[in-house]
Amino acid sequence: MSKRRLMFLGPPGAGKGTQAQRLADDLGIPQISTGDMLREARRKGSELGRKAGEFMDAGELVPDSVVIGIVKERLEEADAQNGFILDGFPRTVAQAEALAAMGVELEGVVNIRVSQAEVLRRLGGRLTCPGCGASYHEEFSPPNVAGICDKCGGELVRRPDDQPDAIRQRLESYQAKTAPLIAFYDRLGSLIDVDGEGAPSLVETRIREAVD
Ligand code: AMP
Repeated sequence: MSKRRLMFLGPPGAGKGTQAQRLADDLGIPQISTGDMLREARRKGSELGRKAGEFMDAGELVPDSVVIGIVKERLEEADAQNGFILDGFPRTVAQAEALAAMGVELEGVVNIRVSQAEVLRRLGGRLTCPGCGASYHEEFSPPNVAGICDKCGGELVRRPDDQPDAIRQRLESYQAKTAPLIAFYDRLGSLIDVDGEGAPSLVETRIREAVD
């Protein structure tokens, strides 16, 4: 049977969100995206959302304590008891240690590999739906109707953190703080490397095979 306690790792623009959503739908388990949860908190205007917002727009990581708290609560919900896909968490070794301390043992950490050149190309044209979190690309994966989300009809936007300066900062944060997780999970024997280049449907097939 498919692994069901999964985490998706990879640089910004690797396709984590898109692929996590597809596999989660397929397996009938929730996709738990800290980026989506933080954006939702911002939309609601909560204190947490306000605090996180400044870090997010600058392309910096939100402090560990904030993110660890929201993931802990989310993992306690009923729909997460039979499996989940963590998307965008953990992003630091301290977060990975906190997850282990919660008693969560990941069955697989899917490391989506893409080149730096590809990441820049993808993030440059990314469009996101603020309503449902779906993402598109102006050139490689456009919506059926320009500017409108296929899934919920929402108006698509370019995220503030998809502007050039913020993209640079996100890549730096990834290299400095998140990339060390590759070795961390490799040591635990849970790392699954997947080639993230090519059409989304091709990457989806590779991931399916990797987690079966
Ligand atoms: P994402 O949608 O996963 O690209 O996340 C968007 C932004 O949310 C990131 O650039 C961070 O500012 C913040 N964020 C999301 N997940 C985390 C995390 N696990 N740790 C710290 N910051 C996070």
